[in-house]
Amino acid sequence: MALPVAEWQGRTARLWAALDPTLRERLAAASLHDAVRLGCDLLRTEKEEEAALVQLCHRAPTDKKPEAASWYREQGNREFKRGQYQAALRLYSKAASHELPGSPEVSVCFANRSAALLHLGHFEVCLEDIARAESHGYPDRLLPKVLLRKAECLLCLGRLQDAQDILRVLESKIALDGVMTTHLTRLKKLSQLKVKLGEKEKCPEPARDARGGIQGEPEIWEENNRISGASSSLSLSFDAERGRHLVASQDIVPGQSLVKEEAFVSVLCPGESLPLQDGDTAWDTRATSADLYCHRCLRQLLASVPCQGCSYAKYCSQDCADVAWQQYHRTECSLGALLLTLGVFCHVALRTVLLAGFAEVSRLVAGSHCGNKNLQNPEASCKPLSEAADAGAGSSGVPGCDSSGRYQSSYQALFHLLPHTEQHSPEHKFLCTLSVVALCKQLQAAGLEAAVLSQESPQQWSKPKTCEKTSDGLSPELKTVAEAMLRHVLQLQCNAQAITVMQELGPGDGAVVDKKPVRLATAFFPVLSLLNHSCCPNTSVSFSGTAATVRAAQPISSGQEVLHCYGPHWCRMRVAERQQLLSQYFFECRCPACLEELDSGVKSVVSIRNSFCCPKCQAQMQGEEDTLCCSNEACATSASRDHLSGRLQDLQQQIRKALDLLRVGKADQAIKMLLKCQMDARTFLSPEHLLMGEMEDHLAQVYATLGKWQEAARHLKKSIEIVEMHHGPSSVETGHELFKLAQILFNGFSVSEALSTIQRAEGILSVHFGPQSAQIQELQEMKACLSELPRNILQRT
Ligand SMILES: [Zn+2]
Ligand SMILES: [Zn+2]
Ligand SMILES: [Zn+2]
Ligand SMILES: [Zn+2]
Repeated sequence: MALPVAEWQGRTARLWAALDPTLRERLAAASLHDAVRLGCDLLRTEKEEEAALVQLCHRAPTDKKPEAASWYREQGNREFKRGQYQAALRLYSKAASHELPGSPEVSVCFANRSAALLHLGHFEVCLEDIARAESHGYPDRLLPKVLLRKAECLLCLGRLQDAQDILRVLESKIALDGVMTTHLTRLKKLSQLKVKLGEKEKCPEPARDARGGIQGEPEIWEENNRISGASSSLSLSFDAERGRHLVASQDIVPGQSLVKEEAFVSVLCPGESLPLQDGDTAWDTRATSADLYCHRCLRQLLASVPCQGCSYAKYCSQDCADVAWQQYHRTECSLGALLLTLGVFCHVALRTVLLAGFAEVSRLVAGSHCGNKNLQNPEASCKPLSEAADAGAGSSGVPGCDSSGRYQSSYQALFHLLPHTEQHSPEHKFLCTLSVVALCKQLQAAGLEAAVLSQESPQQWSKPKTCEKTSDGLSPELKTVAEAMLRHVLQLQCNAQAITVMQELGPGDGAVVDKKPVRLATAFFPVLSLLNHSCCPNTSVSFSGTAATVRAAQPISSGQEVLHCYGPHWCRMRVAERQQLLSQYFFECRCPACLEELDSGVKSVVSIRNSFCCPKCQAQMQGEEDTLCCSNEACATSASRDHLSGRLQDLQQQIRKALDLLRVGKADQAIKMLLKCQMDARTFLSPEHLLMGEMEDHLAQVYATLGKWQEAARHLKKSIEIVEMHHGPSSVETGHELFKLAQILFNGFSVSEALSTIQRAEGILSVHFGPQSAQIQELQEMKACLSELPRNILQRT
């Protein structure tokens, strides 16, 4: 998903293999500047490569198709009739994204969607959709229906005067049109609403106070005066071994915020179920991330505002749509299919240069040429580059700082993240070069060059610049853009930060919410990128929209380096797997966990806990070879590793089947199946195996859907024991499990136990997500609710 689709990767790999060896050598050793030039030459002679890319783009169409719109709308109507308003809502949104802006059809989509929103109780959003329908030319003859809905909405919101006004408009409209049969039902509804209105006026409901009373403690936050977005308790250091890194300049307590940074650029990942098969014409009714989150601010979408030009981009508001258009989407809109085909890294690279503006891009690219070699690779040199103040190192001697020695979340800082030009494999560099050049050629062909080059001053956009065309197709300006983009694509391999959200899973009946982290977007965070990796980090990162917050996960004493885990955590992976994964960042991890496991031959906790056990005596099975032996010498049982691995796979499949049963409402059968899986697992898995915990967790989930809270709590507690063993008692994972337990105890009225569990979950989750996070708010609401219960109920428990 980050890289181009497999077919394009395959084509460039074959092209690479067929190249003349001397050209291959030149490409392998080329600077970014020369790589772009050679890439242009190549694509000029290899016409069929570009044609193939165009062909691949047909699999990810992003243009508006009115025939898709009517199909989605019909599907939406069908779900609506079945009372599946959530599904209808999503389908109407998909339909709206395919209709032409300003058409009567799109206004009907919005009107239909407003009906679903009304049923779901989203009154404010419903009113917005009605306004949208009206502004897109909703057919006059259908207006009474929508006006009634509007009145109902206003009534629900307690805006009685406004409701009254609408009803008056409606009455006169109906009088004007004359009574038709279609109006009769509406007249009935109208009189019902008027009765309701009268009742409401007689006894106005007490105004509900805005969600008050729940406030976390104010956070201690003082910004660093040398690093934007960083806490004043950190300082920026630089040495040959660690490069740039952040160090605690005073003692830090767990939960303290250390970095708060808005992404310089972020691009929403399209999600998985994008149809990319050849000849796939059926439209997909499933919702992906691209349907569920705003393409600019990543807020969760309820009623999306579609882009006026494509069917792909969707926003939370007209405001987001307008800003995105102004900043980058006017250039990206018609290239949607190509961007999906070339992958998120290319997309981030393009958006980065669009956000930076051509003036800044060309200034820094030029600076990287005229400076010495060190500017290409600033961290390879430790000596302060005082003469290159604005291109590389500031007066502090740390690369990426501005002339006053301040490190800011800016394009300059981003530009100086390491591209590792020499370490990438030549094939990878070749793939990235051809992709970026193809994208720039497409920009030129689509007449978007002027938009790219004057991105900084939109008022100039209308006057097309005349750019000198060279024989190989790309103007010198676009070659500069391509060079910057190539740098960014290569940087992303080491510096891409995934923005994750906790997404709700499962049947979603609301009683117990199971959430898993999902990768939502790929972004550049220049300040966050200063943190080095450790497999046992002392911080935790969370996201809200496109903003990241790093918090201390444990006490950090003054002078200690502040570290962040790039993904491979010591609790989740063995050292060999971790080192393999980390090789993409071109470094060997020397964190305490890695050193201990590598040097002393200590077995990782992962392999000890996730081991097989002896089928006869339950002792741990040992051995690195194909045959495993019981660690109990008296037992001497042996078994083949393949056989045990096969059993593990069978077990996992059975568990998936049980979950499928739960999904279709067969909870009793799911329980039977899971209990059988547990019996089976006990005969060959260690009792501490993570899968043992997962089965307990699933059982808890099933019992919760049946309302058997005590059973659910019993199983979840066993799951928590195992999670604690693997991830530690104050880990995010344990926090999430405790959150679920709190919900179960809350639902089961186990008041005192619920309160103590809430307390523990709050303690852990506020360290990782801060006192203002959604989870903490939910926990506090539960707490408030429990403490308001009458005393006699409290005493009973
Ligand atoms: Zn938004
Ligand atoms: Zn668009
Ligand atoms: Zn490590
Ligand atoms: Zn044994």
